Amino acid sequence: MHIPLVDLKAQYQTIKPEIDATIQDVIEETAFIRGKYVEKFESEYAKKYGVKHCIGVANGTDAIFIALKMLGIGQGDEVITTASSWIATSETISLTGAKPVFVDIEKDYYTIDPSKIEDKITSKTKAILPVHLYGQPANITAIKKICDEHELFLVEDCAQAHFAEFDEKKVGTFGDAGTFSFFPGKNLGAYGDAGAIITDDDALAEKMRRFANHGSLKKHDHEVEGINSRLDGLQAAVLSVKLKYIDEWNKKRYENASYYTKLLNEVNGISTPKIRKHVSHIFHQYVIRMKKRDELVAFLRKNGIETGIHYPVALPFLKAYDYLGHKPVDFPVAYEYQNEILSLPMYPELNRQMIEQIIKLIHDFQISQFC
Ligand SMILES: *Cc1c(COP(=O)(O)O)cnc(C)c1O
Repeated sequence: MHIPLVDLKAQYQTIKPEIDATIQDVIEETAFIRGKYVEKFESEYAKKYGVKHCIGVANGTDAIFIALKMLGIGQGDEVITTASSWIATSETISLTGAKPVFVDIEKDYYTIDPSKIEDKITSKTKAILPVHLYGQPANITAIKKICDEHELFLVEDCAQAHFAEFDEKKVGTFGDAGTFSFFPGKNLGAYGDAGAIITDDDALAEKMRRFANHGSLKKHDHEVEGINSRLDGLQAAVLSVKLKYIDEWNKKRYENASYYTKLLNEVNGISTPKIRKHVSHIFHQYVIRMKKRDELVAFLRKNGIETGIHYPVALPFLKAYDYLGHKPVDFPVAYEYQNEILSLPMYPELNRQMIEQIIKLIHDFQISQFC
């Protein structure tokens, strides 16, 4: 049996009539740019988050850029972020003109280590940008405390953590703004690029909305220059359908993760994901650690199982950041983990038999290593 890392077709089949109908409606009404489907999704998303504003944008990268830029971050500023994430997190800092300042990750949790943040704060630091990686909240209360003490903005990158919670409060609602990606493979995914920003700050919301739409809130009323970063009607309509199922899907991911962990605990030499106390982890990715990772990847591929690595090179060690002159000792945890992490297939439609098949193969591989 072939098992992909993520199976978007399987999900589509479970909601096909609703999706097909809503896409047809958008086309009939030619509600392509902005319009009622976008407004509907924005208000549904804000409501489900219990926040005042949701601004639909073109993708999750723009969401971060727009939030940072509208908080006034730019040339000469520094923004502190995690050493382990997708490059969108740090490239958007650079795009504002500011400098990304990386902090190592916590052992086992993979998110920014709050105990290492204060060392990196300077007079130029303007904001902290934590990432709730793989669907697990970062230690957001500790990070928020540091932001409050040092009067820094807090923008949460929630691209991998739709509706994950810390102390029963949804991540994305702790700071000045929460940013989301609806890239198709994310827990809540559109059928193309899409993103959003949430906030309770009225003035910030207005600025972000204006900037994302050529600097205007009304047609031809350009108070400032902006960019073109809009959520489109087709994506919004798809997202409104999918939003109804996200809790159920997140729950299924969690059950699949629990089953993986239960079976993997019987296999030698594998570290399974550790869940932080008082959080709900939504398992965007199910990430294990092991030696001989690359050999296992090849073995699984040969047997029809696709895996992923998120990410094979931690941000500070990417060629793009050579100019910062970082060394492995600067980020020892991120450096060690980049050669050991492995993402196993994870999606709501994955079933127990599939997980059993994957674990059997991993078990066989580990046995062959020890003989
Ligand atoms: C996917 C992702 C983004 C960017 O989202 P896009 O919609 O692809 O632009 C940003 N940050 C993280 C952590 C992501 O995983």
